[in-house]
Amino acid sequence: MAKKEFKAESKRLLEMMINSIYTQKEIFLRELISNASDAIDKIYYRALTDDSLVFDKDNYYIRVAADKATRTLTISDTGIGMTADDLEEHLGVIAKSGSLAFKSENEAKDGHNIIGQFGVGFYSAFMVADTVTVVSRALGSDQAFKWESTGADGYSIVPAEKETVGTEITLKIKDNTEDDSYDEYLEEYRLRAIVKKYSDFIRYPIKMEISGSRPKEGEEGEFETYKEEQTVNSMVPIWRKNKSELKDEDYDNFYMEKRYGFDKPVKHIHISADGAVVYNAILYIPESTPFDYYTKEFEKGLELYSNGVLIMNKCADLLPDHFSFVKGMVDSENLSLNISRELLQQDRQLTAIAKHLEKRIKSELLNLLKNDREKYEAFYKSFGRTLKFGIYNDYGMHKETLQDLLLFTSSKEKKNVSLEEYVSRMPEEQKYIYYATGESIERIEKLPQTEVVADKGYEILYFTDDVDEFAIKVIQSYKEKEFRSVSSGDLGIEPSEEEKASEAEESENKDLFESMQGLLSGKVKKVKASKRLKSHPVCLSAEGDVSIEMEKILKAMPS
Ligand code: ADP
Ligand code: MG
Repeated sequence: MAKKEFKAESKRLLEMMINSIYTQKEIFLRELISNASDAIDKIYYRALTDDSLVFDKDNYYIRVAADKATRTLTISDTGIGMTADDLEEHLGVIAKSGSLAFKSENEAKDGHNIIGQFGVGFYSAFMVADTVTVVSRALGSDQAFKWESTGADGYSIVPAEKETVGTEITLKIKDNTEDDSYDEYLEEYRLRAIVKKYSDFIRYPIKMEISGSRPKEGEEGEFETYKEEQTVNSMVPIWRKNKSELKDEDYDNFYMEKRYGFDKPVKHIHISADGAVVYNAILYIPESTPFDYYTKEFEKGLELYSNGVLIMNKCADLLPDHFSFVKGMVDSENLSLNISRELLQQDRQLTAIAKHLEKRIKSELLNLLKNDREKYEAFYKSFGRTLKFGIYNDYGMHKETLQDLLLFTSSKEKKNVSLEEYVSRMPEEQKYIYYATGESIERIEKLPQTEVVADKGYEILYFTDDVDEFAIKVIQSYKEKEFRSVSSGDLGIEPSEEEKASEAEESENKDLFESMQGLLSGKVKKVKASKRLKSHPVCLSAEGDVSIEMEKILKAMPS
């Protein structure tokens, strides 16, 4: 049997698309501007091989203009334009992308930045417009054509007048309904904000008439308003610039402009990866915790751009939970975007980028720890807890990544110490890495249990954070040294003569201990002579693996 072709009900398809692909109406502007940018790019590529064509950057731009009186919004470009056939094929056939075809025809030329690929973006205009009119004149043609449509009803194409090459798209903005207002798409400030949000790094100028006000000449205290054409996009994204051109200040400004945070980041990381995965990224390690950081409301993620166009505000897949504090953006070509360009399908490229970033973040943090201790400690004060939770979570999968980044207060001068520093200054005969848990450093220092270890001159790590001991239990040992709580039964310290004597005491005072145990029954397991008390008469100690502090937390947890 001969194979038959599928037929699609174009009208229904269009309706479905208009109403269900995009979650936000405002992205229609992103789509139309992206198309305009593609159209200019196409001239640029043409010029590379066609000597009769000169690409003079000044002649190429995109313009966005709103007119409240006629309720129209016009997006025009000086790009390659469309012939009548192009209009028919590219705007009359849903999911047909002239840009995708252009890309594959021109695959050999490197560095292209053509954005289009799905052949649906254009129709997003119908989310905000009743009627869409496209007047276009193709490069190399004297005749312009007008394409017009009110959506699902179909379209018409007729000859038209246009003096210059390029395309002008006019949207008749919908009237407000009870549920939706469309007025905002005629407001200068709103349009400008949308352009900034999604299209700030389009490489051609996006011009708009911007109104301002200024003091009236000769009339004191009087102001006049004026309109002035301005380029509203930044065009060259900072991440595409050469690192050597950029100063710390530029990075700090970008952090502020993007509102990644209100603090001054302790470090920025600028990555231009050119290997198996190609991407640019600028990441920041913030100094202080955002107010909602340790709450459920906090969402981790990096901004994701594809070819300079914002795709996602917070792409969570780019950051592991243990580095959720990192801010910044990633720009990559060739991501496998889904049709709405809002969400990504499970993407190999994205996973590879995320792996890269994780490694890089870790090495930068280590670097900071070694070379700028003060800054690292400021960072650690804000986000150390996240690192410790990172070790504890996911069955300890990330302990190798994170253990070198930990800091604990040490009994030595009460300064922060890393595990590496602790181990490197351990006396040779010291068997374990000692720690003591408590609510505060002051409390811990009063613990009788610390005495024996401290008397030996061994350093003790002070655990004042709930998660400390849990994290350490996951790590188990560092550089082959196990962790040991000072209240553990076996401290691995050779008993001194006096301590040996206490064994004798144990049997001598057997009756006393037994009657004490009777009095405290249900509260303690056993009463015995201690080998470790120096100046204190009595102390509590834990048998087995779970320290008293940990037991308290475990008991407090909902079961
Ligand atoms: P995509 O951009 O993914 O290809 P669109 O639906 O946004 O899909 O656009 C469909 C096609 O229409 C484009 O591929 C392009 O060939 C053509 N097109 C749209 N807008 C313009 C424009 N401003 N100038 C020239 N061609 C355009
Ligand atoms: Mg498009």
